[in-house]
Amino acid sequence: MKIAVSACLLGDNCKYNGGNNYSEKVKNYIEGHEVIPICPEVLGGLSTPREPAEIDCGIVKNKDGTSVDAQFRKGAELALDIVIKNQVELVILQSRSPSCGVNTIYDGSFTGKIIPGQGVFAELLKKNNIKAIDVADIR
Ligand code: SF4
Repeated sequence: MKIAVSACLLGDNCKYNGGNNYSEKVKNYIEGHEVIPICPEVLGGLSTPREPAEIDCGIVKNKDGTSVDAQFRKGAELALDIVIKNQVELVILQSRSPSCGVNTIYDGSFTGKIIPGQGVFAELLKKNNIKAIDVADIR
């Protein structure tokens, strides 16, 4: 099976703070499958490290209120293109990210509060009927 994975879960240092979210659980889950790493925020032209961003009233913004919505949505579109062109069957995404969150996201207040919702890439995958799961849902 072809599986696309948030690149930070595979150990790529593409996270906003220059780190990663390496997951042994993901490594074991994807063993034997064809794996395509994707970071929509990097695809959208954002640098690493970068300011943390959250979704506030449907717009992706940095803490100072600057909109980075265009970059996030461009990155999500480019990531979707990769998923479609490669006929990916499953996408595994990092939790809570304004791009990749599948079940929950931060509420836009930059206070650590989590609410039900999806990142812009996860939302795009859902609209295109592509199966995406949150890393937290892997047993
Ligand atoms: S956009 Fe997704 S893949 Fe990139 S660092 Fe954030 S959670 Fe990881």
